[in-house]
Amino acid sequence: MRRIWPGMETGTIHLVGAGPGSPDLLTLRAARLIETASLIVHDGLVDPSILAMARSDARLVSVAKQRSKHTLPQDEINALLVHEALAGRDVVRLKGGDPFVFGRGGEEMEAAQAAGVRVEIVPGISAANGAAAASGIALTHREDASIVSFVAGQCKGLSDQDWSGLAGVGRTLVIYMGVKTAPQIAEKLMADGLAPDMPIAVVENACRPEMRVLRGPLAGLPDLVMAEAVQSPALIIIGHVTARGDAAIAPLLLEATL
Ligand code: SAH
Repeated sequence: MRRIWPGMETGTIHLVGAGPGSPDLLTLRAARLIETASLIVHDGLVDPSILAMARSDARLVSVAKQRSKHTLPQDEINALLVHEALAGRDVVRLKGGDPFVFGRGGEEMEAAQAAGVRVEIVPGISAANGAAAASGIALTHREDASIVSFVAGQCKGLSDQDWSGLAGVGRTLVIYMGVKTAPQIAEKLMADGLAPDMPIAVVENACRPEMRVLRGPLAGLPDLVMAEAVQSPALIIIGHVTARGDAAIAPLLLEATL
């Protein structure tokens, strides 16, 4: 708590990364905050086993997609966090992966700062790192890739995004939110000069018991996603490193973490 003017205490907003799934991939700081919080505002990617770590009397507020398929609009989430903090309550804002990787953590931090509310960022293992570890796909490799890029592959604005040079020989491209747009993604990359036989992998539900790792050539990505009925959350990884992964390590990681 912090006193911003006499007699008025504000809470702190903790923007906390919940990692890719399993609770033991949380940072110790994240675990401590989750276990002690009286208010947790979380999104849909946070694994139920992590929410189960909360105090029994904690208030858990989901801002995830509901049956109506709508998430709470971002400005309403910002307003909720700020409102609670101004009322003197500490808020744990729990997000899948890392709050600053496609997590809108930046917007929430700015909203907090604009309202004069203290904000703390607790990093998490982003899906790319979790998927890499669980699938045995090293994102960098001295022989195959010394550049890694993370991009958002969702529909909105996809055609306007300039990905030129992000994928290809010596590079790894990790695409978040690209399941629905897989055909446009493959087309976009090949139009940019990528070889149709460039190896790719799709990692679905990384670091969860139901994880799947699918591999193939770039040109086959749309069919792979369709034939295997790939569902979100999944990452698409493009580059020669995906042809190296040793699937045999995945069960070891899962055994160790579940
Ligand atoms: N802040 C999150 C990303 C949020 S965007 C992070 O750092 O990981 C949501 C996207 O993340 C999903 O559409 C999917 O592409 C990816 N993602 C999140 N969790 C995942 C998981 N367990 N396995 C594979 N992809 C995941």
